[in-house]
Amino acid sequence: MSSPEVPEWIDNELREIRAAGLFRSRRTFHPLADGRCLLEGRELINFSSNDYLNLSHDERVIAAAAAALPEMGVGTRASALVSGRTEWHAQLENRLAQFERTDEAILFPSGYAANLGIISAFANQEDTIFCDRLNHASLIDGCRLSGARLRVYRHDQLEKLKRELEKTSGDGKKIIVTDSVFSMDGSLAPLVSLCDLAEEFNATVMLDEAHATGVWGGSGRGLAEELGVEERVTVRIGTLSKAVGTMGGFVAGPCALIDWLWNRVRTQIYSTALPPSICAAACKALEIIQSEPDRRRLLHEQSTFLRRELQQRPSISVPPSSGPIIPIILKDPELTMKMAADLQESGFLVGAIRPPTVPQGTSRLRVSITCAHQRDDLKRFLKALDRSLARNVESR
Ligand SMILES: *Cc1c(COP(=O)(O)O)cnc(C)c1O
Repeated sequence: MSSPEVPEWIDNELREIRAAGLFRSRRTFHPLADGRCLLEGRELINFSSNDYLNLSHDERVIAAAAAALPEMGVGTRASALVSGRTEWHAQLENRLAQFERTDEAILFPSGYAANLGIISAFANQEDTIFCDRLNHASLIDGCRLSGARLRVYRHDQLEKLKRELEKTSGDGKKIIVTDSVFSMDGSLAPLVSLCDLAEEFNATVMLDEAHATGVWGGSGRGLAEELGVEERVTVRIGTLSKAVGTMGGFVAGPCALIDWLWNRVRTQIYSTALPPSICAAACKALEIIQSEPDRRRLLHEQSTFLRRELQQRPSISVPPSSGPIIPIILKDPELTMKMAADLQESGFLVGAIRPPTVPQGTSRLRVSITCAHQRDDLKRFLKALDRSLARNVESR
Protein backbone atom coordinates (compact mmCIF):
# COMPACT_ATOMS: atom_id res chain seq x y z
CA MET A 1 0.00 0.00 0.00
CA SER A 2 1.18 3.50 -0.73
CA SER A 3 -1.06 5.89 1.09
CA PRO A 4 -0.26 9.59 1.42
CA GLU A 5 0.40 11.02 4.86
CA VAL A 6 -2.71 12.51 6.46
CA PRO A 7 -2.35 16.21 7.35
CA GLU A 8 -2.14 16.85 11.08
CA TRP A 9 -5.25 19.05 11.16
CA ILE A 10 -7.35 16.10 10.02
CA ASP A 11 -6.08 13.98 12.92
CA ASN A 12 -6.81 16.87 15.27
CA GLU A 13 -10.34 17.32 14.03
CA LEU A 14 -11.02 13.61 14.32
CA ARG A 15 -9.85 13.73 17.93
CA GLU A 16 -12.22 16.64 18.63
CA ILE A 17 -15.16 14.85 17.03
CA ARG A 18 -14.49 11.73 19.12
CA ALA A 19 -14.04 13.74 22.33
CA ALA A 20 -17.44 15.38 21.80
CA GLY A 21 -19.10 11.96 21.46
CA LEU A 22 -20.05 12.81 17.88
CA PHE A 23 -17.91 10.41 15.87
CA ARG A 24 -19.92 8.75 13.10
CA SER A 25 -18.83 5.25 12.29
CA ARG A 26 -19.96 3.29 9.27
CA ARG A 27 -21.32 -0.19 9.05
CA THR A 28 -22.59 -2.50 6.38
CA PHE A 29 -26.30 -2.83 6.16
CA HIS A 30 -28.30 -5.51 4.38
CA PRO A 31 -31.92 -4.67 3.55
CA LEU A 32 -34.61 -7.33 3.69
CA ALA A 33 -38.19 -7.17 2.44
CA ASP A 34 -41.07 -5.82 4.54
CA GLY A 35 -39.34 -3.27 6.76
CA ARG A 36 -36.64 -5.61 8.03
CA CYS A 37 -32.87 -5.76 7.68
CA LEU A 38 -29.76 -7.71 8.60
CA LEU A 39 -27.14 -5.99 10.68
CA GLU A 40 -24.06 -7.73 12.03
CA GLY A 41 -25.67 -11.05 11.18
CA ARG A 42 -28.94 -10.39 13.02
CA GLU A 43 -32.37 -9.74 11.63
CA LEU A 44 -33.85 -6.48 12.88
CA ILE A 45 -37.05 -4.52 12.39
CA ASN A 46 -35.89 -1.49 10.43
CA PHE A 47 -37.29 1.73 11.88
CA SER A 48 -34.69 3.88 10.16
CA SER A 49 -35.77 3.82 6.54
CA ASN A 50 -37.64 6.30 4.36
CA ASP A 51 -39.24 3.54 2.31
CA TYR A 52 -42.64 4.54 3.73
CA LEU A 53 -44.77 2.58 1.28
CA ASN A 54 -42.54 -0.52 1.23
CA LEU A 55 -41.86 -0.19 -2.49
CA SER A 56 -38.08 -0.57 -2.65
CA HIS A 57 -38.42 -4.35 -2.34
CA ASP A 58 -41.71 -4.71 -4.19
CA GLU A 59 -41.50 -7.59 -6.66
CA ARG A 60 -43.22 -5.60 -9.40
CA VAL A 61 -40.81 -2.67 -8.98
CA ILE A 62 -37.81 -5.01 -8.99
CA ALA A 63 -39.12 -6.79 -12.10
CA ALA A 64 -39.52 -3.45 -13.91
CA ALA A 65 -35.88 -2.53 -13.19
CA ALA A 66 -34.65 -6.00 -14.14
CA ALA A 67 -36.54 -5.96 -17.45
CA ALA A 68 -34.94 -2.66 -18.48
CA LEU A 69 -31.37 -3.71 -17.63
CA PRO A 70 -30.42 -6.10 -20.47
CA GLU A 71 -31.74 -3.73 -23.10
CA MET A 72 -30.47 -0.42 -21.73
CA GLY A 73 -27.34 -1.46 -19.81
CA VAL A 74 -26.36 -0.38 -16.33
CA GLY A 75 -24.86 3.09 -16.61
CA THR A 76 -26.37 5.95 -18.60
CA ARG A 77 -23.19 7.08 -20.39
CA ALA A 78 -23.96 10.83 -20.52
CA SER A 79 -25.95 13.66 -19.03
CA ALA A 80 -29.58 13.90 -20.08
CA LEU A 81 -29.04 16.84 -22.46
CA VAL A 82 -26.11 15.19 -24.26
CA SER A 83 -27.38 11.68 -24.97
CA GLY A 84 -28.42 10.27 -21.59
CA ARG A 85 -32.18 10.76 -21.84
CA THR A 86 -33.64 7.41 -22.92
CA GLU A 87 -37.25 6.49 -23.55
CA TRP A 88 -37.40 5.35 -19.93
CA HIS A 89 -36.49 8.86 -18.76
CA ALA A 90 -39.15 10.33 -21.05
CA GLN A 91 -41.69 7.83 -19.81
CA LEU A 92 -40.92 8.61 -16.17
CA GLU A 93 -41.16 12.35 -16.80
CA ASN A 94 -44.57 11.80 -18.41
CA ARG A 95 -45.75 9.63 -15.56
CA LEU A 96 -44.57 12.17 -12.99
CA ALA A 97 -46.42 14.94 -14.81
CA GLN A 98 -49.55 12.78 -14.90
CA PHE A 99 -49.15 11.81 -11.22
CA GLU A 100 -48.63 15.42 -10.16
CA ARG A 101 -51.26 16.77 -12.60
CA THR A 102 -48.86 19.25 -14.18
CA ASP A 103 -47.77 19.95 -17.78
CA GLU A 104 -44.32 18.43 -17.48
CA ALA A 105 -41.64 17.11 -15.15
CA ILE A 106 -37.84 17.08 -15.10
CA LEU A 107 -35.55 14.55 -13.42
CA PHE A 108 -32.38 15.19 -11.42
CA PRO A 109 -29.68 12.74 -10.28
CA SER A 110 -30.93 13.04 -6.67
CA GLY A 111 -33.09 15.22 -4.47
CA TYR A 112 -29.92 16.78 -3.10
CA ALA A 113 -28.71 17.68 -6.58
CA ALA A 114 -32.15 19.08 -7.44
CA ASN A 115 -32.18 21.42 -4.44
CA LEU A 116 -28.60 22.54 -4.80
CA GLY A 117 -28.99 23.27 -8.50
CA ILE A 118 -32.48 24.76 -8.52
CA ILE A 119 -32.04 27.26 -5.68
CA SER A 120 -28.66 28.42 -6.90
CA ALA A 121 -30.12 28.97 -10.38
CA PHE A 122 -33.26 30.66 -9.07
CA ALA A 123 -31.70 33.20 -6.71
CA ASN A 124 -28.70 35.53 -6.86
CA GLN A 125 -26.98 38.28 -4.84
CA GLU A 126 -29.82 40.75 -5.37
CA ASP A 127 -32.40 38.39 -3.90
CA THR A 128 -33.48 37.47 -0.38
CA ILE A 129 -34.25 33.91 0.65
CA PHE A 130 -36.35 33.19 3.72
CA CYS A 131 -35.22 29.78 4.91
CA ASP A 132 -36.78 27.68 7.68
CA ARG A 133 -34.21 26.91 10.36
CA LEU A 134 -35.07 23.20 10.15
CA ASN A 135 -34.73 22.97 6.37
CA HIS A 136 -32.83 20.01 4.94
CA ALA A 137 -29.09 20.49 4.37
CA SER A 138 -29.55 20.38 0.59
CA LEU A 139 -31.86 23.41 0.71
CA ILE A 140 -29.50 25.29 2.99
CA ASP A 141 -26.55 24.48 0.75
CA GLY A 142 -28.52 25.66 -2.29
CA CYS A 143 -29.33 28.93 -0.52
CA ARG A 144 -25.67 29.47 0.36
CA LEU A 145 -24.49 28.67 -3.14
CA SER A 146 -26.95 31.15 -4.65
CA GLY A 147 -25.23 34.09 -2.90
CA ALA A 148 -28.64 35.52 -1.95
CA ARG A 149 -29.21 37.28 1.38
CA LEU A 150 -30.45 34.70 3.87
CA ARG A 151 -33.10 35.25 6.51
CA VAL A 152 -33.65 32.25 8.74
CA TYR A 153 -37.09 31.85 10.34
CA ARG A 154 -38.93 29.29 12.48
CA HIS A 155 -42.22 27.92 11.24
CA ASP A 156 -43.63 28.08 14.77
CA GLN A 157 -42.95 31.86 14.86
CA LEU A 158 -44.31 33.23 11.63
CA GLU A 159 -44.67 36.78 13.05
CA LYS A 160 -40.89 36.98 12.77
CA LEU A 161 -41.01 35.88 9.14
CA LYS A 162 -43.67 38.51 8.51
CA ARG A 163 -41.51 41.23 10.06
CA GLU A 164 -38.52 40.16 7.96
CA LEU A 165 -40.65 40.19 4.80
CA GLU A 166 -41.88 43.69 5.69
CA LYS A 167 -38.35 44.95 6.19
CA THR A 168 -37.08 43.60 2.87
CA SER A 169 -37.30 46.19 0.13
CA GLY A 170 -35.66 46.66 -3.25
CA ASP A 171 -36.01 45.00 -6.63
CA GLY A 172 -34.64 41.60 -5.69
CA LYS A 173 -36.80 38.52 -5.60
CA LYS A 174 -38.16 37.28 -2.29
CA ILE A 175 -38.23 33.52 -2.00
CA ILE A 176 -39.61 31.43 0.85
CA VAL A 177 -37.89 28.03 0.89
CA THR A 178 -39.28 25.19 3.00
CA ASP A 179 -39.49 21.45 3.49
CA SER A 180 -43.03 20.00 3.59
CA VAL A 181 -42.13 17.59 6.36
CA PHE A 182 -39.09 18.42 8.46
CA SER A 183 -37.02 15.30 8.30
CA MET A 184 -35.58 15.19 11.82
CA ASP A 185 -38.74 16.44 13.60
CA GLY A 186 -41.55 15.01 11.52
CA SER A 187 -43.30 18.38 11.87
CA LEU A 188 -45.27 19.83 8.96
CA ALA A 189 -44.77 23.22 7.33
CA PRO A 190 -47.67 25.69 7.79
CA LEU A 191 -48.12 25.95 4.03
CA VAL A 192 -51.37 27.89 4.00
CA SER A 193 -49.89 30.67 6.17
CA LEU A 194 -46.66 30.65 4.17
CA CYS A 195 -48.59 31.03 0.91
CA ASP A 196 -50.68 33.83 2.45
CA LEU A 197 -47.52 35.66 3.51
CA ALA A 198 -45.92 35.09 0.11
CA GLU A 199 -48.95 36.65 -1.62
CA GLU A 200 -49.06 39.57 0.80
CA PHE A 201 -45.39 40.40 0.26
CA ASN A 202 -45.00 39.43 -3.37
CA ALA A 203 -42.72 36.48 -2.62
CA THR A 204 -42.53 33.06 -4.25
CA VAL A 205 -42.71 29.74 -2.41
CA MET A 206 -40.29 26.93 -3.15
CA LEU A 207 -41.32 23.65 -1.54
CA ASP A 208 -39.41 20.41 -1.04
CA GLU A 209 -41.87 17.52 -0.76
CA ALA A 210 -39.15 14.87 -0.16
CA HIS A 211 -40.84 13.20 2.83
CA ALA A 212 -44.37 14.01 1.65
CA THR A 213 -44.60 12.56 -1.86
CA GLY A 214 -46.60 9.33 -1.63
CA VAL A 215 -47.34 9.95 2.05
CA TRP A 216 -49.55 13.07 2.19
CA GLY A 217 -52.52 14.21 0.11
CA GLY A 218 -55.57 12.31 -1.03
CA SER A 219 -53.70 11.08 -4.12
CA GLY A 220 -50.24 11.05 -2.55
CA ARG A 221 -48.97 14.18 -4.27
CA GLY A 222 -47.72 15.61 -1.00
CA LEU A 223 -48.48 18.21 1.65
CA ALA A 224 -49.39 20.91 -0.90
CA GLU A 225 -52.18 18.62 -2.09
CA GLU A 226 -53.20 17.80 1.48
CA LEU A 227 -53.51 21.51 2.35
CA GLY A 228 -54.92 22.61 -1.01
CA VAL A 229 -52.10 24.98 -2.00
CA GLU A 230 -50.60 23.29 -5.07
CA GLU A 231 -51.43 26.23 -7.31
CA ARG A 232 -49.87 28.73 -4.90
CA VAL A 233 -46.44 27.08 -4.78
CA THR A 234 -44.13 28.27 -7.57
CA VAL A 235 -41.58 25.43 -7.50
CA ARG A 236 -42.39 22.04 -6.04
CA ILE A 237 -39.44 19.66 -5.71
CA GLY A 238 -39.71 15.96 -4.92
CA THR A 239 -37.53 12.90 -4.57
CA LEU A 240 -38.01 9.36 -5.83
CA SER A 241 -35.71 7.98 -3.15
CA LYS A 242 -38.12 7.91 -0.22
CA ALA A 243 -41.75 6.72 -0.50
CA VAL A 244 -41.25 5.95 -4.21
CA GLY A 245 -38.53 3.49 -3.16
CA THR A 246 -36.05 4.24 -5.97
CA MET A 247 -33.70 7.17 -6.67
CA GLY A 248 -33.63 10.63 -8.21
CA GLY A 249 -35.04 14.13 -7.72
CA PHE A 250 -37.75 15.82 -9.78
CA VAL A 251 -39.77 18.95 -10.34
CA ALA A 252 -43.26 18.80 -11.82
CA GLY A 253 -44.72 22.05 -13.11
CA PRO A 254 -45.74 24.24 -16.03
CA CYS A 255 -43.89 23.93 -19.39
CA ALA A 256 -42.04 27.24 -19.09
CA LEU A 257 -40.68 26.40 -15.63
CA ILE A 258 -39.49 22.99 -16.81
CA ASP A 259 -37.88 24.48 -19.95
CA TRP A 260 -36.10 27.03 -17.77
CA LEU A 261 -34.84 24.31 -15.39
CA TRP A 262 -33.49 22.27 -18.34
CA ASN A 263 -31.53 25.32 -19.43
CA ARG A 264 -30.27 26.68 -16.15
CA VAL A 265 -29.74 24.00 -13.50
CA ARG A 266 -26.11 22.96 -13.43
CA THR A 267 -26.55 19.83 -11.31
CA GLN A 268 -28.86 18.53 -14.04
CA ILE A 269 -26.80 19.65 -17.02
CA TYR A 270 -23.41 18.50 -15.71
CA SER A 271 -24.25 15.18 -14.10
CA THR A 272 -24.94 11.82 -15.69
CA ALA A 273 -28.65 11.01 -15.99
CA LEU A 274 -30.27 8.43 -13.73
CA PRO A 275 -29.89 4.78 -14.78
CA PRO A 276 -32.75 3.76 -17.14
CA SER A 277 -33.52 0.73 -14.94
CA ILE A 278 -34.20 3.09 -12.03
CA CYS A 279 -36.54 5.14 -14.21
CA ALA A 280 -38.42 1.96 -15.17
CA ALA A 281 -38.68 1.01 -11.49
CA ALA A 282 -39.92 4.48 -10.51
CA CYS A 283 -42.61 4.36 -13.23
CA LYS A 284 -43.91 1.11 -11.76
CA ALA A 285 -43.72 2.43 -8.18
CA LEU A 286 -45.75 5.54 -9.10
CA GLU A 287 -48.34 3.31 -10.74
CA ILE A 288 -48.63 1.31 -7.50
CA ILE A 289 -48.90 4.48 -5.39
CA GLN A 290 -51.83 5.53 -7.55
CA SER A 291 -53.59 2.17 -7.60
CA GLU A 292 -53.04 1.11 -3.96
CA PRO A 293 -54.03 4.03 -1.70
CA ASP A 294 -54.46 1.62 1.22
CA ARG A 295 -50.69 1.65 1.72
CA ARG A 296 -50.89 5.31 2.63
CA ARG A 297 -53.95 4.82 4.86
CA LEU A 298 -52.26 1.97 6.75
CA LEU A 299 -49.07 4.01 7.19
CA HIS A 300 -51.00 6.85 8.84
CA GLU A 301 -52.95 4.49 11.08
CA GLN A 302 -49.78 2.87 12.35
CA SER A 303 -48.02 6.23 12.78
CA THR A 304 -50.89 7.60 14.83
CA PHE A 305 -50.91 4.53 17.06
CA LEU A 306 -47.16 4.67 17.76
CA ARG A 307 -47.01 8.44 18.28
CA ARG A 308 -49.92 8.37 20.77
CA GLU A 309 -48.34 5.51 22.72
CA LEU A 310 -44.98 7.29 22.88
CA GLN A 311 -46.56 10.57 23.96
CA GLN A 312 -47.97 8.85 27.04
CA ARG A 313 -44.49 8.17 28.37
CA PRO A 314 -43.49 10.91 30.83
CA SER A 315 -39.70 10.47 30.63
CA ILE A 316 -39.45 11.26 26.91
CA SER A 317 -40.53 14.13 24.71
CA VAL A 318 -42.35 13.40 21.44
CA PRO A 319 -43.37 16.58 19.63
CA PRO A 320 -46.96 16.82 18.39
CA SER A 321 -47.30 16.18 14.68
CA SER A 322 -48.47 13.37 12.46
CA GLY A 323 -47.03 11.06 9.84
CA PRO A 324 -44.41 8.31 9.87
CA ILE A 325 -41.41 10.26 11.25
CA ILE A 326 -41.53 10.14 15.04
CA PRO A 327 -38.64 11.66 17.03
CA ILE A 328 -38.03 10.64 20.64
CA ILE A 329 -36.07 13.54 22.08
CA LEU A 330 -33.58 12.47 24.76
CA LYS A 331 -31.34 15.59 24.64
CA ASP A 332 -28.05 13.89 25.56
CA PRO A 333 -25.99 12.42 22.68
CA GLU A 334 -24.47 9.61 24.76
CA LEU A 335 -27.84 8.55 26.16
CA THR A 336 -29.17 8.57 22.61
CA MET A 337 -26.39 6.27 21.41
CA LYS A 338 -26.83 4.00 24.42
CA MET A 339 -30.56 3.61 23.92
CA ALA A 340 -30.15 3.02 20.19
CA ALA A 341 -27.71 0.22 21.09
CA ASP A 342 -30.20 -1.25 23.60
CA LEU A 343 -32.96 -1.19 21.02
CA GLN A 344 -30.72 -2.83 18.47
CA GLU A 345 -29.98 -5.53 21.02
CA SER A 346 -33.75 -6.01 21.34
CA GLY A 347 -34.14 -6.33 17.57
CA PHE A 348 -34.93 -2.79 16.36
CA LEU A 349 -32.88 -0.46 14.22
CA VAL A 350 -33.63 3.22 14.90
CA GLY A 351 -31.70 6.30 13.87
CA ALA A 352 -29.63 8.02 16.57
CA ILE A 353 -29.46 11.67 15.56
CA ARG A 354 -26.98 14.04 17.16
CA PRO A 355 -25.55 17.50 16.50
CA PRO A 356 -24.69 18.89 14.02
CA THR A 357 -27.66 17.23 12.28
CA VAL A 358 -29.96 18.62 15.02
CA PRO A 359 -29.35 21.57 17.43
CA GLN A 360 -27.26 21.05 20.58
CA GLY A 361 -29.26 19.54 23.44
CA THR A 362 -31.84 17.90 21.17
CA SER A 363 -30.22 14.54 20.39
CA ARG A 364 -32.91 12.04 19.60
CA LEU A 365 -33.94 8.63 18.44
CA ARG A 366 -35.67 8.98 15.11
CA VAL A 367 -38.25 6.31 14.48
CA SER A 368 -39.62 6.09 10.97
CA ILE A 369 -42.11 3.43 10.12
CA THR A 370 -43.38 1.96 6.88
CA CYS A 371 -46.69 0.42 5.87
CA ALA A 372 -45.03 -3.00 6.11
CA HIS A 373 -44.63 -2.73 9.87
CA GLN A 374 -47.26 -4.64 11.80
CA ARG A 375 -49.06 -3.52 14.94
CA ASP A 376 -47.24 -6.30 16.76
CA ASP A 377 -43.83 -4.93 15.67
CA LEU A 378 -44.82 -1.57 17.16
CA LYS A 379 -46.01 -3.10 20.43
CA ARG A 380 -42.81 -5.09 20.85
CA PHE A 381 -40.82 -1.93 20.12
CA LEU A 382 -42.69 -0.07 22.89
CA LYS A 383 -41.82 -2.83 25.36
CA ALA A 384 -38.15 -2.73 24.39
CA LEU A 385 -38.12 1.05 24.69
CA ASP A 386 -39.68 0.88 28.15
CA ARG A 387 -36.99 -1.55 29.29
CA SER A 388 -34.26 0.74 28.00
CA LEU A 389 -35.86 3.81 29.58
CA ALA A 390 -36.08 2.03 32.92
CA ARG A 391 -32.42 1.13 32.72
CA ASN A 392 -31.00 4.41 31.43
CA VAL A 393 -33.35 7.24 32.37
CA GLU A 394 -35.76 6.39 35.16
CA SER A 395 -33.08 4.83 37.37
CA ARG A 396 -30.93 7.97 37.37
C1 LIG B 1 -33.79 13.18 1.72
C2 LIG B 1 -34.04 14.61 1.41
C3 LIG B 1 -33.46 15.21 0.30
C4 LIG B 1 -32.44 14.50 -0.54
O1 LIG B 1 -33.05 13.63 -1.44
P1 LIG B 1 -32.14 12.48 -2.11
O2 LIG B 1 -32.98 12.04 -3.24
O3 LIG B 1 -31.94 11.45 -1.06
O4 LIG B 1 -30.87 13.13 -2.51
C5 LIG B 1 -33.81 16.50 0.01
N1 LIG B 1 -34.66 17.18 0.78
C6 LIG B 1 -35.22 16.65 1.88
C7 LIG B 1 -36.16 17.45 2.70
C8 LIG B 1 -34.92 15.35 2.24
O5 LIG B 1 -35.46 14.82 3.33
